Amino acid sequence: MLCEQALCTGCRACENKCPTRALTMKEDGEGFLRPFLDTSRCTQCGLCRSTCPVLNTPAQAPSQREPGTYACWSLDETIRERSSSGGVFSLLAKEVLKDGGVVFGASFDEDLRVRHTYIEDFEQIDGLRRSKYVQSDTGDCYLQVENFLKAGRPVLFVGAPCQVAGLNAYLGKPYENLLTLSFICYGVPSPKVFETYIRYREDKHKARAARLSFREKQGSGWSNCAMCIEFEDGTKLRHPLKQDPYFVGFGRHLFTRPSCFECHFRYPNIFSDMTLGDFWGADKLEGLKANDDKGVSLVLTHTPKGEEGLKRIAPHLFIQRRSFEEALKYNPRLKSSSACPRNRSRFFEEFAQDTDFERLIRRYMTNTGWKAGLKKTIKALLGEGLIHKLRRG
Ligand SMILES: Cc1cc2nc3c(=O)[nH]c(=O)nc-3n(C[C@H](O)[C@H](O)[C@H](O)COP(=O)(O)OP(=O)(O)OC[C@H]3O[C@@H](n4cnc5c(N)ncnc54)[C@H](O)[C@@H]3O)c2cc1C
Repeated sequence: MLCEQALCTGCRACENKCPTRALTMKEDGEGFLRPFLDTSRCTQCGLCRSTCPVLNTPAQAPSQREPGTYACWSLDETIRERSSSGGVFSLLAKEVLKDGGVVFGASFDEDLRVRHTYIEDFEQIDGLRRSKYVQSDTGDCYLQVENFLKAGRPVLFVGAPCQVAGLNAYLGKPYENLLTLSFICYGVPSPKVFETYIRYREDKHKARAARLSFREKQGSGWSNCAMCIEFEDGTKLRHPLKQDPYFVGFGRHLFTRPSCFECHFRYPNIFSDMTLGDFWGADKLEGLKANDDKGVSLVLTHTPKGEEGLKRIAPHLFIQRRSFEEALKYNPRLKSSSACPRNRSRFFEEFAQDTDFERLIRRYMTNTGWKAGLKKTIKALLGEGLIHKLRRG
């Protein structure tokens, strides 16, 4: 028996471990990968169960102490501008690559699908950089990580907290030459919804999308970054996040993976050496001059290896120690999951039947649609009624 369907994170640890290939990952109706069992091939060895990070999450959290908490940004302006937050990932990657290592992270393929891949040269770093707000497919990268580790190469692995937990569960033992980074995770959206969004943009634009950045800082800054799509005909589309339907849906958790609503891998159940995030609210912190809106990373170190990694890149960083409470204040997802919105299942029912994505956008993913208009009218009417009532005594 695999873990409960609603809790499965799609990490692929069980599939990678299965000795008879009885498990294969297939897309479910919402577009998330899950393991499917071919009972004719299953020998009931139980390896899938004992590898599953959800079934084996220790009741006693692995992170026994409060993490080291830092506000940081790269002193290299290009790295900072090309990264989602303060560029800490790029600096760590540079160090590992300098040592002859390998860096695993999420990248777009030629069809803009998000997949885990690896690089061995800093020249290739840009593909891995920046947040892709879609669940990444880890493919067979746990096996590749294991091969590099066994060959003695240093490995940096970056992924969602559940993917790092999946990697550790797959490896089954600690490796001195492995450094793991997870990010504070809002929740991972459906790859199928993202793909539909891209096809919708391409249809409207009458050109193939070539590149996409979820968080373009250039021109508008870190706190007002924009969704940016470059098309093959050379044109560009740039939307402030608040106005981009995909981002509105992401923000509302309309197409977030079900397991994210009951995530087993939030603090203190962290399995990575470090956690990276945005230090939202940094401009309000006493003694930290972070008003340039170029991006501030929140770095949490959970292990001595994580501390050591941060120490190595410290000469290339602005770095200041902060309290864990300050980090938690603006980043609740560090500790707790969001609630599942009530209209999520209705959205997916309509998504399964409806080929008109624009209609779904109008119904579910707009900040200025008829619903908002109606709400405004009702509010205004109620307000007026209340004023009348008050006037009448
Ligand atoms: C789905 C998602 C949700 C997030 N939610 C929050 C949040 O609620 N609060 C917060 O503070 N930060 C969140 N982050 C993290 C944040 O956006 C930055 O990625 C992080 O601060 C690192 O920034 P950086 O400047 O150091 O590195 P960047 O150069 O931005 O590097 C980002 C790293 O993350 C990896 N990555 C990107 N997308 C994915 C993906 N889909 N799956 C696996 N790995 C990926 C990249 O390969 C790269 O290694 C989220 C990131 C993602 C992908």
